[in-house]
Amino acid sequence: METLVNSSRVINTSMICVIISGPSLNEAREQVYRSGSRADLLEFRLDQFSFCNIEAIAHLKNASAVPVIFTLRKRSHGGEYAGDEQQRMDQIRRLIALKPAYFDLEYDVSKTFYDEMYKLYSDVEIICSFHDFEQTPKDLQAIFEAIKQRPASIYKIATMANSTLDSMRILKFMLENVKKGFRISAICMGEYGSVSRILGVVFGNSIVYAPLTSDLSTAPGQLPLDELLNRYHLKKHTKETIVLGLIGDPVNKSPSHQTHNQVLKALKLKAVYVKFNIQQPELHEFLEFAKKLNIKGLSVTMPLKELAVCGLSEKSEDSVNIEAINTLIIENRKINGINTDGIGALDALEEHEKVNGKTIVILGAGGAAKAIAWEAHKRGANIVILNRTIEKAEELAKATEGSFGSLLDFPVIASKGYDILINATSVGLVSEKSRLPIDSSFMLEGKIVLDVIPSSTDTPFLYEAKNKNCRIVFGNKMLMYQAIEQFNFWFGDTINKLQIKEAFFEAFKTI
Ligand code: NDP
Repeated sequence: METLVNSSRVINTSMICVIISGPSLNEAREQVYRSGSRADLLEFRLDQFSFCNIEAIAHLKNASAVPVIFTLRKRSHGGEYAGDEQQRMDQIRRLIALKPAYFDLEYDVSKTFYDEMYKLYSDVEIICSFHDFEQTPKDLQAIFEAIKQRPASIYKIATMANSTLDSMRILKFMLENVKKGFRISAICMGEYGSVSRILGVVFGNSIVYAPLTSDLSTAPGQLPLDELLNRYHLKKHTKETIVLGLIGDPVNKSPSHQTHNQVLKALKLKAVYVKFNIQQPELHEFLEFAKKLNIKGLSVTMPLKELAVCGLSEKSEDSVNIEAINTLIIENRKINGINTDGIGALDALEEHEKVNGKTIVILGAGGAAKAIAWEAHKRGANIVILNRTIEKAEELAKATEGSFGSLLDFPVIASKGYDILINATSVGLVSEKSRLPIDSSFMLEGKIVLDVIPSSTDTPFLYEAKNKNCRIVFGNKMLMYQAIEQFNFWFGDTINKLQIKEAFFEAFKTI
């Protein structure tokens, strides 16, 4: 039987649902009270309640400021109901008579029982649910074809994501079926599933489930209500929302989901920024999903900056010179990319003084150093590249009309004088207190010094520079300016550049 959506009940927007897990009556009461009307729905996880008194449950339902879903989940679907199936069905019969707005029934509950519940309580909307705690099955459509044999208002499919690609797959599956008129809540569980919970609202997810607070989480990867509402501003998103994000591995330490969503809000943009953990072998497939899901812009971090060049529809100047990009834009299924790392570093330095005609010593010849050297060259600086592997220093110096040496040559270079010193090696994270790329006793007094390691506190390199009364530029400033340039690339002339800059300055004060 083909299940058609009851058109009188179809709504286009997603509902945010807070999970009430108790377990005691007092705790459940408190959770209902604290949720208030911040969410659109509450789900009573009755299988997790330590009480099953029907009157107490009725009172709790009546105390809720928003409609309620009842769920009495069996163990094979990840629930905690301890009785046998007959006892569970008897309890469901008693509970559904309380007429919650929705009742969640698993797709594999007895057909006779399911049909009885569906027909007897036509004013209770049935959510037909499927769970897979191991994986996200390859053929989601086949699973959906099977479960939609059961009549329901909403179909819920919750599967375990073993990679971000699983989340992308479930989002694409949901989008395709929502377009056909079905109401679906398709969610990936687990650490890699968080993006599906955030982006679901853009791709038509009927219900986004959230614990009230992280300690009340009932499934891995759930994001608490406050995070969904206050960080990702979920209530404002619809299918028109622009999706932006960061790709790389790891991405968990990046503060960009915090800063960028704050900037998007300040700029009154209907857009959301999420972090996608993508490993090198996954990049190609991810970009195909990104095209299909109409993702507009991506920041790219390690280890994908070089590989991302292969995904470009056309080679950009940066991709040829620097051989790495950190920003992608997807338009009409074509991918273009630039590298804003160099602009970020130079804009941060030029807060102090223009670099034209100045001598800049760059330590390192990796990705960051290349981007900086090319931008410094464009802005008219004289460049000296010093690197552990001297061949790489030579190659970069030749391309950017500079001179080169090894890190051990720093004392000689310093004796000739320089204006700006940049640590663009990956040596000297804050946690590695003792490590420096050069002998710092040869650092010149009072110069401008940048350490690219993203930090708003002293790295060992900047600590030494401070002792030499140098003017310090933190790697976080570079990070901020490169992000500003990414926004300029994604939004072009549609937003005032000064407003973008001001919004980023505010957002970076919070990290
Ligand atoms: P790469 O791996 O491309 O380059 C690393 C560089 O560090 C190379 O020059 C390498 O020398 C040198 N290096 C590594 N280990 C040592 C060592 N033990 N002694 C001396 N030199 C060493 O990395 P990236 O250029 O992409 O990144 C470098 C740093 O820049 C990272 O910390 C990254 O977080 C930061 N970064 C910051 C940004 C920001 O916005 N603030 C933006 C982009 C990057 P060799 O060639 O000999 O191997």
